[in-house]
Formats: sequence, structure tokens, C-alpha cells
Amino acid sequence: MFLLKKVLLNGKEQDILINGNQICRIDDDIENDEAEVIVCQNKAILPSFCNTHTHASMMFLRGIGEDKELFSWLNEDIWPREAKLTPEMIYHLSRFALLEMIKTGTTLFADMYFYPQETIRAVQDMGIRGAVSFLGMDFFNASKAQIQAAEMETFLNQKAPSDRIIKGLSCHAIYTTSKPLFLKAKELATKYNTFLHIHSSETNQEINDCLKAHHCRPVQLLRQWGVLGGQTVLAHCLHLDEDEIRTLAETKTVIAHCPSSAFKLNSGQMDLQKYLDAGIKVTLGTDGVSSNNSLSMLWEMKLAALSAKNKANNISAGKVNDIFQIATRNGFEAFGLNAGEIAVGKLADFILVDLNNVFLMPNHNLISNMIYAADSSCITDVFCNGAPVMRNRIIPNETEIKDHFNQIVSFFR
Ligand SMILES: [Zn+2]
Repeated sequence: MFLLKKVLLNGKEQDILINGNQICRIDDDIENDEAEVIVCQNKAILPSFCNTHTHASMMFLRGIGEDKELFSWLNEDIWPREAKLTPEMIYHLSRFALLEMIKTGTTLFADMYFYPQETIRAVQDMGIRGAVSFLGMDFFNASKAQIQAAEMETFLNQKAPSDRIIKGLSCHAIYTTSKPLFLKAKELATKYNTFLHIHSSETNQEINDCLKAHHCRPVQLLRQWGVLGGQTVLAHCLHLDEDEIRTLAETKTVIAHCPSSAFKLNSGQMDLQKYLDAGIKVTLGTDGVSSNNSLSMLWEMKLAALSAKNKANNISAGKVNDIFQIATRNGFEAFGLNAGEIAVGKLADFILVDLNNVFLMPNHNLISNMIYAADSSCITDVFCNGAPVMRNRIIPNETEIKDHFNQIVSFFR
């Protein structure tokens, strides 16, 4: 049990009692002898972030092959290295990624990569939450599709080690993954009541190829296949027509908006305000570090806000509260978690920020400061599921995690 004393919440100093994994009381003055007291003078409490699209283990590829054309970058730099990855490496790379996520205030991330059991092991050890998926990507090979479908079910069948792990499925994209595997993944996701994570509508080439092959656009194809819905998360969705926007709103399909990746790969610019006005459930993701090159949701929020204003040619687009909500509550809700807000009964996933940090001064509007000015040094403490994962900027085992990471980086040199 933890008692936060005199923490700033919505502009007012409050005491907050954390019991188990929940925020159980918020009041002017709380006394509790059993709770560990945390004095929060000059600190504010905010919900932690949910990064709804990433590939955590790609950390070792940060900065490799910069500014190259996409397919030569993949062929020469990324795929040859990924082919040498072992399960043990994925565990250590994931732990290193989680260091960065925790330092920047993220307590839930949705991951799409190989060896998901190793990512789960890392998430379990580091104390945050992961929506970790088994990746379906069959390159239109029927026997591969059958094998992966069976592996998907085996993965979902194995019990998650804790309630911080949400197991789900991914189908990489319509240009790498066959219709039968998409259908099987949707069937299994429905059977196990979990999410399905897909890259969609990222580039103009994807749209044009889809029109040629299927005589419809990618989201229309996914609708025909019956894979849309409230537990489907589509990463990117930069290029949607009016019919597709309506479809995603009607089916309550979730979008993971990744503005850094969109700009860095020059794949397009989302009209975020249009999607929000249409009622689409938009969330925010960083994508992997090979196309970002950071896992910081702080920078992602700033870019989302600036991009929304620029695309709509309207200063009122991408309002600070909307941007903060897509980075917090919308993400948690997309994965069925009652978090992303500081209120009684909510899961105790939160950050404490230092109001004496130069980036947060003056404190006219804390949400605006977090989006436009803050960096990770503003975040002093991170709690997930009622337990601390970073106290006073210290994360247990950081040196050992970095040592293992450096060994892997040396191997690939
Ligand atoms: Zn991605």
C-alpha cells in the first residue's frame, strides 16, 4: 500500500492512497499507518502512457542504415541482422527497450515481433504491462500459414504469467500475410477474446497494390475479410478515404498513430483531427526504433500535435487534451484496461513529474508542458499496477541490462 502525500492533481494538492493495484482513495488529507508514505512536494501525478505500436527488440538497430531507400535498407541492413537473432537475445533486447519506456513514462506497450515468449519474460521481469502478440507473416506460403496458425493457438493457450501480460495476435500486413492466416487469426482472437494487431494503409504503394490485386482499398479488404472490430488495432492508417474512415468509426476499430515513423519513412501524414471528429478510436505508438528512433511517448505526443495542426491547416486541430488522451486513456481502453486516468477505482498506472524541472516551469498548463516542453528528466517515478518500477529515476538492474545489450550490439558489429 502506498500513500502519496500532497501531490498535485488537476491543479490541487491531494493525498492519494494506492491499495493493491488500484487507486482507492483521493482526499485532502489521508492518514494510513500501513501504507508506505511518499512525500510528493513539488510533484504532480499524471496517468502513464500506453504505446500501442512498437517492435521493442529492434533496439540494436537504432541508427543503422539511416536515410536509405526502404527496400535497400531492409535488404542490406535490417533483415540480414534479424535473421541472426536468438530467443535469448530477444529477452535482453526487450529488457533494454523497457528501460527506455519506463524512463519516458510508459507502462503498457503493444508489441509485434518474433519470439513473443521472450518479450513476455522481459515484461514480467521489468514490472510493466505488455500486449504481446504472436506474429503471423507467411509470405503467402500455405504450409507456413498452417504452421503459424497452429503456433498462434499454442501461444494463446499457454497461461500468461501475470495480469500484466495481455497475449494477442498480429498479422503483419496484407502484403506479407495471406487471407487464410488473417481469417484464422481473427477466429482465434475472437475465441480467446483478445486483440489482433495489423500494419495497414501505411504507404501509397500499399494502397495502389491492393487496388490492383483486390479492386478495393486495404481497410475495405479487411472489412470484407471480417477482421475489423473493437479488438483490432491497425498501425499507421495514413491513407484512408471517406468510406474507410466511416468503416473504422462504425466498427470501433482502433488506430495506432505513429507520426515519427510516418515522417521519418516519408510514408504520409495523418489527418488526425478528421479521424477524431469522425469518432475513430485513435491511440498513439512509437513504432520500432529503426524508424523513429526513440520509444518516448513525450516526443510522439508533440509530433502528433504539430502534425495534426499542419495537416488540417487549423491551429485548433490536435488540442492538448485530445493528444494527451490518445497517448493515455485511449490506449489502455483499447486493450481492455481501466487505466489512463487518475481517479478512484482506476488501475494505479501513473507517473510523478518534478514541477521544479525547467521544462515544466511555469505550470500554467501541465498537459501542454508535457506535450510541448517535457523530456524524460521531468519524470521521477513510474508506477504500474500499484507497484513502483522506477523510484527517483532509479530502475533496478539497469547496469546489468545495459551490459547484456552492449554484448549483443558487439555481436552484430
Ligand atoms: Zn510497425
